[in-house]
Amino acid sequence: MRAYRAAILRFAEDQAPIYDSDGLLVTATDASGRSVVKAVGGYHSLIDGLAGVPVQDLRGYLIAPGFVDLHLHYPQVDVIGAPADGLLPWLEKYTFPQESRFFDEAHALEVAGFFLDELQRHGVTTALAFATSHSASVHAIFEQALQRGLRFITGKVLQDRHSPDGVRDETEQSLIDTEALIQRWHGVDRLGYAITPRFAPTSTPEQLRGAGELAAKYPQVWIQSHVAENRDEVRWAAELFPQSRSYLGVYADHGLLRERAIYAHCLHLDAADRVLMGETGAAAAVCPTSNLFLGSGFFDFSAADAAGMRYGLASDVGGGTSFSPFHTMLAAYCVGREGHTKTGLSLKPGQLWWQHTAGAAQALGLGVVIGNLQPGHEADFVVLDPQATPLLARKASQASSLDELLFAMIVLGDDRVVVRSVVAGR
Ligand SMILES: [Zn+2]
Repeated sequence: MRAYRAAILRFAEDQAPIYDSDGLLVTATDASGRSVVKAVGGYHSLIDGLAGVPVQDLRGYLIAPGFVDLHLHYPQVDVIGAPADGLLPWLEKYTFPQESRFFDEAHALEVAGFFLDELQRHGVTTALAFATSHSASVHAIFEQALQRGLRFITGKVLQDRHSPDGVRDETEQSLIDTEALIQRWHGVDRLGYAITPRFAPTSTPEQLRGAGELAAKYPQVWIQSHVAENRDEVRWAAELFPQSRSYLGVYADHGLLRERAIYAHCLHLDAADRVLMGETGAAAAVCPTSNLFLGSGFFDFSAADAAGMRYGLASDVGGGTSFSPFHTMLAAYCVGREGHTKTGLSLKPGQLWWQHTAGAAQALGLGVVIGNLQPGHEADFVVLDPQATPLLARKASQASSLDELLFAMIVLGDDRVVVRSVVAGR
């Protein structure tokens, strides 16, 4: 057992933040060898029962659940910040040329190592990430994640049409490769596999159907893709799949909407689409820095809530502009405020934080496993310094409520705030 004394943030069942300004987090190894939260609460209420347990004194710091990033692309580390005229030109000019290099496992390993270090440096302890269409890209990042003990989910991209040489795969072989990767990696230590059609326009109906069959055969495996990011893309999907009711309907028609299916963006959905998301248990990865950067649109939080649709926050690096969960939460706040194309609202600091931790974990179907620091959750957490910069220290010292403290960190925070990321107790 180990214990940490600090301010501690966690979440109640009803999503409300629970805060102990002088708290104690106790971790222990469970029967399966995993480091989990054994107890958490006020320091004085717990310390008497812990004779002999070493306590690290981290007073002045805030311990919070490790952030969960619901959508990003590890091969796009070198695409971040690329100037382009919207989504489709950005894919052609920058993204596909970079991704075509990932047939080479040595290159993939180097980028994967950098990418995972960058996630941890920013306080992200679990991610659902795209690899590329090359199996080597998946092996590389799973090997790197395994070494680090991370809970990490990825998959080989399926894209058998409308893609240039070097990233386009072949229908039948792509499905054989996907199943082999599932059998090799899904459930190894903390790793999970995601069936990964890039987006409907770059897959033939045969490839989508095959992906749906694998999704039915392996219900514990995740599905990840993109939907309704950009109006040109929505029109293109409608031309290619005229028999489907909508772009989201293409995925439904091919067996790709279910629990553990995460769709990035979900900007240009209609009311029936949102209800379908809610009914099937699929969830949206909301990517506000990416959506603002590419000018794609604004996620409609209130419509999603009204439809009972699940969602969580994501960076979408390299379309997104930052690995930092603080930047993502701030951008989500700005997108929420936008009230010209949809209902504008002010997301509360605790809600934003929940959407990037416990809420994102719930969207993945891992709500009782990660994303929170209640007893039984895996011991993935971050140690944050509210004094990390002069301005943040000044604001934090004036905070008269938890909302004010959390919002100061959201608005002014970045990687300088993250003192340490603890993964599986390490
Ligand atoms: Zn993406």
